[in-house]
Amino acid sequence: MTGDSLDPEDWDSFRATAHDMLEAALDKMQSATEGRVWTPLPDGIKQSLTSDLPREGIGIERTQQAVQALMPYGVGNTHPRFFGWVHGAGSPNGLVADIAAAAMNANLGGRDHGAIYVERQVVQWVRSLFEFPDTASGLVVSGTSMATVVALKVARDVKLAFANQRVGSSGVELVGYTSVQTHNCVARAFDLLGLGTDALRLIAVDENFEMDVAALKSAIAADKVAGKVPFCIVGTAGSVNVGAIDDLDAIADIAAAEDIWFHVDGAFGASCMLSEELRPRLIGITRADSLAFDFHKWWHVNYAVGFVLIRHDADHLRSFTMQAEYLAGQKRGLAAGGPWPTDYGPELSRGFRALKVWTQLMEHGADKLGASIKQNCELAQYLAEMVKAERQLILCAPVSLNIVCFAYDATRVGINDEIVMELQTRGIAAPSTTTIKGQTVIRLCIANHRTTRADIDLTLTEILRIGCELSN
Ligand SMILES: *Cc1c(COP(=O)(O)O)cnc(C)c1O
Repeated sequence: MTGDSLDPEDWDSFRATAHDMLEAALDKMQSATEGRVWTPLPDGIKQSLTSDLPREGIGIERTQQAVQALMPYGVGNTHPRFFGWVHGAGSPNGLVADIAAAAMNANLGGRDHGAIYVERQVVQWVRSLFEFPDTASGLVVSGTSMATVVALKVARDVKLAFANQRVGSSGVELVGYTSVQTHNCVARAFDLLGLGTDALRLIAVDENFEMDVAALKSAIAADKVAGKVPFCIVGTAGSVNVGAIDDLDAIADIAAAEDIWFHVDGAFGASCMLSEELRPRLIGITRADSLAFDFHKWWHVNYAVGFVLIRHDADHLRSFTMQAEYLAGQKRGLAAGGPWPTDYGPELSRGFRALKVWTQLMEHGADKLGASIKQNCELAQYLAEMVKAERQLILCAPVSLNIVCFAYDATRVGINDEIVMELQTRGIAAPSTTTIKGQTVIRLCIANHRTTRADIDLTLTEILRIGCELSN
């Protein structure tokens, strides 16, 4: 007996069960290209997930059985015909990293231990990829939404000379700018930071869905006349609707001339830095004051992990450092080696997300990830050409990166929603829908290293077949 310890009473049997779980996980990954894309969770399992708090455990074996029963019912983003929203496909590598991370059970809030150095290595790699100076800082976070909150907090504090940290924002009317196509994580950050979403000006876009830079200039001028204080401009590298990339260089010029913080939402699009061919599309990104992006999208690191990069380490630190006697640093020992990650963001306790980023890059190298991104963009062009050639389909937006928006042409109202729901429920493919110029469209986002031409062909054939079925 091990008394009240949570360790197994019988390590041999625990090992056997754990090995069994590993096999099941590997089977799932190895067969990622097979079967249905998405299957709803069966009622029996849903029911079993509404039980009372277990006062007595059921033991490792039965617990693992319940876990394995759940495994077929994911979102479907590991499957090559998952095209919805922007989801990364993950990679088998992440399995192994998560096992090691769970075993270490490290808390990356700070202190001097191995995991901290891995995260610092990731920060250094990102800094050099985006050509930021050595004085730039960064933090591994849960995703772009959190990265945006961190970046915009620093931007706000800098504009208010950090006085707001003690006394609140004291009547200064801060305003920021982004395009109407920007992801709602920016508005949510404005809300969270107490700026209010009205303080975020939504600038119109041009025919390529890129921010209208002239309209941006006039909006800033108008706000200044009205006594408001412009503090940030958010450019998008890869918009969620159509994959558009704002003219980041032009925005950087305006931000510099007006002394406004320039933030880039590069959730998936910033990943194009990994590809020599695509990198020139991001010109201007290296001039940003801050950048938010995800590893869990186009880098295929398993969920959930993103990153915030800040040009000036000193600003970043000042925005988030708060002393506490129980967190005092030391010259030697575990409490040495500051600044700590907690000095760069709102969280104190943090898991070892950085490990799976590090292993992904160590195993595959940046070039291979870049090649996979480029291939996704080529598949999107291939699909766009097929859509254009098809009498029944209309391409609804230019294809900038990996997203193709098109509509099935029929008089029947709601047919594009219907087609997408049928594809999903039949398990064939999982695109999503969005609205382009007031019309609901079928949206395929190709962000999966497993997707081939055959997947695109099959999906298009089925869209036409279902469209025809529903029209009759
Ligand atoms: C996905 C996405 C976000 C939000 O990122 P999360 O990692 O889901 O928080 C923000 N902006 C764009 C352009 C996105 O595609």
